[in-house]
This record gives sequence, structure tokens and C-alpha cells, in this order.
Amino acid sequence: MTVENFLAEHSSELEQQRNDVSLTRYTGRFAPSPTGPLHFGSLITAVASYCDAKAQHGKWLVRIEDTDIPRIYPGSESHILRCIDAFQFEPDAEIIFQKDHLELYEAVLQQLQQQNLVYACQCTRKMLGSNHIYAGTCRNLGLDFVEQAIRVKVNDQDICFQDRLQGQQCSNLAQDLGDFVLKRRDGIINYQLAVVVDDYLQGITHVVRGADLLDNTARQIYLGQLLGYPRLNYMHLPLAMNAQGQKLSKQNLAQALDSTQAPQLLQAAFTALNQPPIVLDTPARMLQQGIQQWDASRIPVGTTLHGCYL
Ligand code: GLU
Repeated sequence: MTVENFLAEHSSELEQQRNDVSLTRYTGRFAPSPTGPLHFGSLITAVASYCDAKAQHGKWLVRIEDTDIPRIYPGSESHILRCIDAFQFEPDAEIIFQKDHLELYEAVLQQLQQQNLVYACQCTRKMLGSNHIYAGTCRNLGLDFVEQAIRVKVNDQDICFQDRLQGQQCSNLAQDLGDFVLKRRDGIINYQLAVVVDDYLQGITHVVRGADLLDNTARQIYLGQLLGYPRLNYMHLPLAMNAQGQKLSKQNLAQALDSTQAPQLLQAAFTALNQPPIVLDTPARMLQQGIQQWDASRIPVGTTLHGCYL
């Protein structure tokens, strides 16, 4: 099954959306994982991806990345949905959930298997060695695919892209990483595969997200190339840090967004992105102001944001 067959068979609504967005030059997205509640760093990503899309008369979609079931944090999915509402973001299509696409990811894996681009692997993480580069031990063992991890074969070749903020980025997957996992032994589809398939499924053209994902991009470009999907345009935002100098993240228990403070938090997010001042108002009007004044070239360069915005 291809993405096109999946659309035709499963969701005429999604297919219609995709046809609509394919007429748009810019389709962006916000793709949080429900592994914890949204925090100020997530708000920066949501605001930047929203304003960048809308300022270019593009569409903005939301996708909940809920494939990693063991890491789902109870209540965080409803927190994400409540925040989208409370901060008055207006997605241009119905919010989609990756857990509804498992059948499609399996079909894409099968397609890669038929092309001999993936193989089953029984190596554990501990066997990777200190450099974390996978040596390809299982590449030619011809192991059965049942209940094994699945890895994709990579090439000894530079993958380069021009990030709108971070500049030219290059990575050689064979030298930096080795063949990487697309499906874990426990059956969970890896984020890299799901994100590439869904960006294509939703007709995404532009990705605006945190710089913590910068070094995932070469893997995603490579997978997109194998699958014949168009190349996306990337902008990786500097990350907000906490008082201890760590990036705000669900892992270090960043404070959950308090939607009763939506206007103040939006104002702080625009300040962090170095946009012109935004007058306190309803969230919808503040976002509108932010779109009108949006200037991506003002976003601080680098991968971290210094200073306290709250
Ligand atoms: N789901 C990822 C996260 O919450 C973001 C994925 C992406 O923007 O590509 O960190």
C-alpha cells in the first residue's frame, strides 16, 4: 500500500485536505508528542510555525505524534489539545493522530523490504559500542523479520541541506550513525519513519521546529529520498533554556503551559523569537498581530536562546 492508496481507502476527508493543501505553496505543521504536557519551548515552536506559515499565506496543520506508546504521559494529549484551543491557534485541517496510521507505516516498511533497503536486526543498544555508530552486523544475515528490529541501510554519502536559520548542514549517515532503526523489536514504529510518511501524507512543504531535531533531519531527508517524496524546507529554532542552562524539555520536567496565562505567555514567546512587541490582547488578536509583523530573519541565530523570557 502506498500513501496514495491509504488516502483513497481510508480517508476521503484527508485526501481532500491533501488535495487542497497541494495547491498551497506553503504547508507547515506543529507535531507535538504526548510524552509530557506542552511547555514554553513547545509554545515557541507552535508560534513560529504558525506565524511563518500564515505570514506566507500558507496552511498550518497539527499532528499528534503518539506512536511511542510506552512514553505517552497520561493526560498530556488532552493538555496539548486544550492549549491549541486556549491559545486560539486555528489549524487549517482536522488534527491527525499517528496511532491511526500504523497500517500505513507497516505498508511503507514492506515497500522498503521489497526493495531490499531494510533488514531485520537482533543487536541490542548495548552492542553498539561507545561511538553509538551501528556497524551493520546484521546487514547480511538474512534474519527473519518477525519480532526483530528493522534497520534501513544507509550510504556513505553526504546529505546536505540549507537550514533557514542554522545555515548549511551536512551529515554522512554511514559515518555518523550507521544503519538506523525504523521499527523497534517491541513493534513500535520509530519517529523518523512516522514523521517522513506523515509529512508526505499531509502535503507538508515547510518544517519549523526546535534545533534539538536538527541532527535528525539528514535521516528524514534520506528516508524521503528512498521513498521518492519531495524534499522539504527546514528551519530549526533556537531552544529555550531553564535557569540551570538545560533546554526546556518534558524530560527535565519543564513547567506545563498554563492556559489561563495565554496572553502573557504568547507575548513572552514573541519576545523570545525577537519579534516586534505585541500588545496584550486576546490570544487570537495577538497571533494576528504576530503574523502581520512576522519577520523570520529576526529570530536569534544559534541553537539556544539566552535570557529569561518569563
Ligand atoms: N514530535 C516531535 C516532538 O514533540 C517533533 C517532531 C517534528 O517536529 O518533526 O519533539
